[in-house]
Amino acid sequence: MEGETVPAARTAANKATRIALGVFVAGTVVLGTALFLVSQGLIKFHPKQQYCLTSECIEAAAAILSKINQSVDPCDNFYRFACDGWIYNNPIPEDMSNYGVYPWLRHNVDLKLKALLEKPISKRHDSEAVQKAKILYTSCMNENKIEKADVKPLLSILRHSPFRWPVLESNIGPEGLWSERKFSLEQTLATLRGQYSNSVFIRLYVAADDKISNRYILKLDQASLSLSSREDYLENTTEAKSYRDTFLQFMVDTAVLLGANASRAESDMKSVLKLEVKIAEIMIPYENRTSELMYNKMNISELSAMIPQFDWLGYIKKVIDTRLYPELKDIGPSENVIVRVPQYFKDLFRILENERKKTLANYLVWRMVYSRLFNLSRRFQYRWLEFSRVIHGTTSLLPQWDKCVDLVESALPYVVGKMFVKAHFQEDKKEMMEELTEGIRWAFIDMLEKENDWMDSETKRKAYEKAKAVMAKVGYPQFIMNDTYINEDIKTLKFTESDYFGNVLQTRKYAAQSDFYWLRKEVPKTEWFTSPTTVNAFYSASTNQIRFPAGELQKPFFWGTEYPRSLSYGAIGVIVGHEFTHGFDSNGRKYDKNGNLDPWWTTGSELKFKEKTKCMINQYSNYYWKRAGLHVNGKRTLAENIADNGGLREAFRAYRRWIREKRGGEEEPLLPGLDFTHNQLFFLSYAHVRCNSFRSESAREQIHIGAHSPPIFRVIGAMSNFEEFRKAFSCPANTSMNRGPESCRLW
Ligand SMILES: [Zn+2]
Repeated sequence: MEGETVPAARTAANKATRIALGVFVAGTVVLGTALFLVSQGLIKFHPKQQYCLTSECIEAAAAILSKINQSVDPCDNFYRFACDGWIYNNPIPEDMSNYGVYPWLRHNVDLKLKALLEKPISKRHDSEAVQKAKILYTSCMNENKIEKADVKPLLSILRHSPFRWPVLESNIGPEGLWSERKFSLEQTLATLRGQYSNSVFIRLYVAADDKISNRYILKLDQASLSLSSREDYLENTTEAKSYRDTFLQFMVDTAVLLGANASRAESDMKSVLKLEVKIAEIMIPYENRTSELMYNKMNISELSAMIPQFDWLGYIKKVIDTRLYPELKDIGPSENVIVRVPQYFKDLFRILENERKKTLANYLVWRMVYSRLFNLSRRFQYRWLEFSRVIHGTTSLLPQWDKCVDLVESALPYVVGKMFVKAHFQEDKKEMMEELTEGIRWAFIDMLEKENDWMDSETKRKAYEKAKAVMAKVGYPQFIMNDTYINEDIKTLKFTESDYFGNVLQTRKYAAQSDFYWLRKEVPKTEWFTSPTTVNAFYSASTNQIRFPAGELQKPFFWGTEYPRSLSYGAIGVIVGHEFTHGFDSNGRKYDKNGNLDPWWTTGSELKFKEKTKCMINQYSNYYWKRAGLHVNGKRTLAENIADNGGLREAFRAYRRWIREKRGGEEEPLLPGLDFTHNQLFFLSYAHVRCNSFRSESAREQIHIGAHSPPIFRVIGAMSNFEEFRKAFSCPANTSMNRGPESCRLW
């Protein structure tokens, strides 16, 4: 792939050469400028450096050219310099509230899954599980049938306890009439959670015990509300008020569509909204949800003594289906649970005991109705779209196929995952991921040893041990290849092509019960349970793992070995570094190399760490995001900002080592038509991962509920702190991309 060697005569190769020549002619002016810059010493030009003219290099050069806007000064706003071209050419689709390179790749994965799921069933070649996935997809695509069924499947739920809906009175028949005497909060909450996987007020789930990370335990947390952010309920801004008004009208109209009387619906739903506002007030905000504060281990009888208004044991026993898990029949008052938000639960039951039962029932059933609306006929979804217009700014519904792919993917992640991996994942990607993860590990440790001047030697040694122990998981978990295991795992699911709504309910029940499977088992610390089609990467504190599913390992994040390494180190390399650094961010640092929440820092080093985070909190809090009309919350986004900054430094260092060790210090051949060095391409490649535009509604939501800074500041923030960036682009002091001595750094 080096130099100007043109591949032997093949039609495709010849075509590539013609394109290359075209790019070359067009690039003459650019090259002229480059030569001038080189003569001025602004670009370092290795005399031996040549151009790479393979079709891969030409493809990469074209992809980069199409994204950038060279009329923007990279030292003024590198995000706009890198992304303006892409953003201009990729307006946000009507059915989305934001759009960028990540969502674009997500969409490409969806298209591939669509093609796989639409292939006719082959009784001979498709496993039982694959047949189920295709049947579920087909049932979802049968829109005539869904239209014909209209509201019937939902009404049949609303006619029976515990989902009789007070607001409907007897308008759906006398059997649907709600009775206060028969209402049970505990039963309704338990059915929502245990049969429909809907967590309302309380979120009950199984996860690793933070302090004994090889054991599973029950955890209790606060649940989400109908609207995505607490601020939507609490603020008195014009936006928040209009969200609440629109939301109220949406609830009222939905109730009316289901048979309620309009004025009755109006007054009932007003009470429901008031109740949700009260719940929003007592929810623990993200910044105060620290690992130590949320670790409150007690047994159920202690919990019941603390909050006596609710039958906790009765609730938990009703949620878990012991026909599926007979070993869980022994759950009793001595069962341990981790209560993540004790104050929230105390406040919650104080509110609930003073609330009218009718309002409670109206609210709980509303949440059930709300999550099933998308499985009804078009008129319900169009009513939702009116609501979404205001809340998300979207003006059209997701195409049915996209909705159906999402359904199958979330219901059967490992089945769909295997289909995807078999068709689209190249095993040799694992090799380069090994090179990248080991490079990042080396870089983190090298900087810890040579550049970290604030940590004492004792804490450094522990950090070193933790860095050594980080385990990388790449592509897909091995167990998905085992058909017997997968068929067994989903044996209770029996889909039919003609019953979409019934199929969905089965998937909800399956999802609701699946985590209880683990309760009495040991945590398989070397396994991972991430869906392979996920276009994202993760760090898991309890297993000290970094995870990169197949969906993430694609262009423009992961470039193969035929492309310049600068592109991969800048994109997936920084992502690897980002996940790695999560083990040492403001929260991850509290977990030790074995994944236990166990303080391993000396007081001195911890104080210095906290002192240094202040710089980053201030830096990001000062960023004003025009699209949202709000400032970034530096405290809320701290952990992610630490990961971004660390990841960028580690990947750059790892790239330079690769050049040193694998190429004897010689730079990679340049890309045609671009006058960028590979150090510059590294930074461009990172920024390109982040190109994303937002509708103002979505921007506002991102600030309120997002853990990450907005993409523009993920680029500007980390790069302006990094001396290698300013060197690469020769950014003078006092430009916004060069924070100079003001730069913040943790790792
Ligand atoms: Zn992250």
